Order: sequence, then structure tokens, then C-alpha cells
Amino acid sequence: MTQNTPDLPFNISDHHVWRPYTQMKTTPAALKVKSAQGVHIELEDGRRLIDGVSSWWTVCHGYRHPHIMQAVKAQMDRVPHVMLGGLTHAPAQTLAQRLAALAPGDLNHVFFCESGSVSVEIAMKIAMQSWINRGERGHTKFVCFKGGYHGDTLATMSVCDPEEGMHSLFAGGLQQQLVTALPRDESAREAFEALISTRRAEIAGIITEPLVQGAGGMKFHTPETLAYLRDVCDRFGLPLILDEIMTGFGRLGTMFACEKAGVIPDIMTVSKALTGGTLPLAAAIASSRLFADFWSDDAGAALMHGPTYMGNPAACAAANASIDLFEQEPRLEQVATIEALFAERLPEARDFPGIVDVRWQGAIGVLEFPAVPELEALKARFVDAGVWVRPFGNIIYLMPPYVITADELDVLITATLNVTRGWAKDHFV
Ligand SMILES: *Cc1c(COP(=O)(O)O)cnc(C)c1O
Repeated sequence: MTQNTPDLPFNISDHHVWRPYTQMKTTPAALKVKSAQGVHIELEDGRRLIDGVSSWWTVCHGYRHPHIMQAVKAQMDRVPHVMLGGLTHAPAQTLAQRLAALAPGDLNHVFFCESGSVSVEIAMKIAMQSWINRGERGHTKFVCFKGGYHGDTLATMSVCDPEEGMHSLFAGGLQQQLVTALPRDESAREAFEALISTRRAEIAGIITEPLVQGAGGMKFHTPETLAYLRDVCDRFGLPLILDEIMTGFGRLGTMFACEKAGVIPDIMTVSKALTGGTLPLAAAIASSRLFADFWSDDAGAALMHGPTYMGNPAACAAANASIDLFEQEPRLEQVATIEALFAERLPEARDFPGIVDVRWQGAIGVLEFPAVPELEALKARFVDAGVWVRPFGNIIYLMPPYVITADELDVLITATLNVTRGWAKDHFV
């Protein structure tokens, strides 16, 4: 019912859309988008913004790449959706086969779903049930890391950083996991291995984002740290889950971040750039070793999961077309070009008042401050400067579409540095 109720302090019809991570009372109105093309978002009022965050890290080929548009349209004309229970279709078959070929090692078995969070839930479920199927009870907890982020659903919230993450509010209602600091150096490793060995009988697996913890603040760790986690998992017989939802599909310069460390996980989760930012799709990709744990004459050993829209044909067609583009166009070279331009331009920010750190890797550039005061005003300044940049936590960051030209990237970086410099002068000394 849209009729306004006098005792409510807001106008119902202004707020049918409940927005993400948003205090609806104090937030400025959302900007209305009319269209988008390439790296540009065009607003209803005619303004055009360069997208500096690739629509939450998805739009790697830019908006409306004709190859993806055409593939989705053609698929919509054949079959937009059909259930994956008992039925299958070429887009899902082909995509699973291509993901298995792209993913390292024996990551060969692709379980589709519609969102990154759900793919992490599925990965956790696969890990837990693999123990049960092998007749080893009690492996119900995950080792996860401070600064980590794996989604907004209840189980994924439990493996996020419980204090710094967005989910501390719910702490009492979540499964208690074994949250610890990433063992970044020799001194941390002893304590880490002590934790693993004392709690081993309870541990279902170790989960981390490889090399960059994204929503937890774009914190980097080294390939050596990742390789160490793989080594610990091998020594203690634990599955390693790598959440490549943000890092996957080229963001760090290789197809998957784990390649940079020569690490092969037991389960990998992908989403975000999987469809090039066109349609919702995600997957948990499991090793043949884990898949074998579900291979049985016992129906009870099956993976009991099946999202209604899993393997949606249009979304799979989009993902196949997106992978075509990685093969046909120089995407990873473009990421290397972005990285080189970050290396050239971002160090200038090291002189800004208050700056804590300036870092970049692949197509991620980060300016870290003690905090980001006057967040909404800062966001508005970016829009006024013609760029769509969305600081969060204590960072201002850039993650442009890989197809951004050197000129467009120059405009984006220049605007970001200018706005940030002015804002930093106002708030730090
Ligand atoms: C975005 C993200 C998720 C959650 O994906 P959704 O599609 O938003 O549910 C999980 N893990 C990582 C690393 C992410 O960046």
C-alpha cells in the first residue's frame, strides 16, 4: 500500500527502493542513470561520469560491449531461463568447461549460483560436507582472516572480519569461526600453526581472498603468504578456499590472483567480473579431489543445493562472451597499462595531508587515510569533477574498467588526485 501513513516520519512513496549500505534518512538522493557506454555512466540530467569503480568491480570490458550484448540478445531469443534440475543447456555446459580450463590445477567442477555470497556459502558447504562424506565428523569451523570479506549473507558474514567488517552488529547471532591475523611473516606463523594444530579436528577449511582483501579495505598480502597458507593446508590436510570474486578475471593482471603465487586452491569462488558486469552469475569451482568425496551410490552423499536460477542461460551466455573477450582483446595487457599509469601518477599522493599509504596492484589503486571524514561531501565532489569514485572505510580507491584509454585514465586519476588533495587539506594537517 503506497498511501502515506501520517505517523511515519518519511514519505513511503519516496522510499520503495531500500538502498544498499545506506542510512535512508540521511543519505543524499541517488543519482539517476539514463544509460552507460564504455567507461561512462550517463545521468538523467545529462552529466557524464567516468566510472572509477567498474560498478562494484564488475564491468571489466566497459558498459555495453557489443560482443556481450549480442550474445545475450541471441540467448534471450532462444531461451532466457530454464531450470538446471534434470535439464541442461549449451551455455552452462560450455561455460563450466571453459572455467575448468581457465582455472588452475584440477578445479574442474563448477557449481553455479546467482551471487558471490551464495557461491561462498556453497564453497563452505562443499568443504563441510566433504568431511562428513568421508566419515569424519566435527569439521564445522572455518579459519578466516582479519580484514577479510566474503559476502553479506549470514554464513559469509561469519567468515568476514568480525570487528572491522560491516557485520560486527550481528556477531552474537553468527556461527563462531576461527578468525585470526593473516600469517604475513615468520613471527606470526608459529602462533598460526599452533591454532591449526590444536583445533584441527574442528576445522572444515581455510578461506581467504588471494593477495588483496577487497571490501575489508584493499589490503594487500604477498604471494609468499598465500603459498604459505597452501602449504599449511597441505600439511594439515585441510581444503583451501580462495575467494576470487573480486580478484578473478584479470583485476590483478593475471586471470586469477592465485596464479601470481602459483597456488592452486581446493575450491575457488568467482562472480563480479564473470559476466563482464552484465548479468548476475557466480560459481564455486571445486577440485576433482573434493568432487570425488560426493561420488557415491548413496543419494545422501549428494550436494544438497540448487538455487532456482542457477546456470541461467542468458547469464552463462554473457560469461562465455566475456571470456571470448579475454581471448580476443588484450585485456591483461590493458591491466598492465593501468598498473603502469598508477605507478607513474599515484605516488604524488604521498605528499597529501594525512595520507597513510599509497599502493596499487594490477588495476587497483588505493589511497589510504586514517579515516574518510565528510564521506558524502567527498563523494559529491568526485561527481562534480566528473568521476564516479566511491570511497569507503578509510580508503579512496580506483578500479576502472580495463578498457579505459590512457587519456580517460589520465582524466580519472587527475580528478581523483585533485579532489582528494583538496579534501585532505580540509581535514588533515
Ligand atoms: C563482492 C564480494 C563477495 C560477495 O558477492 P555478492 O555478489 O555481493 O554477494 C564475496 N567475496 C568477495 C571477495 C567480494 O568482493
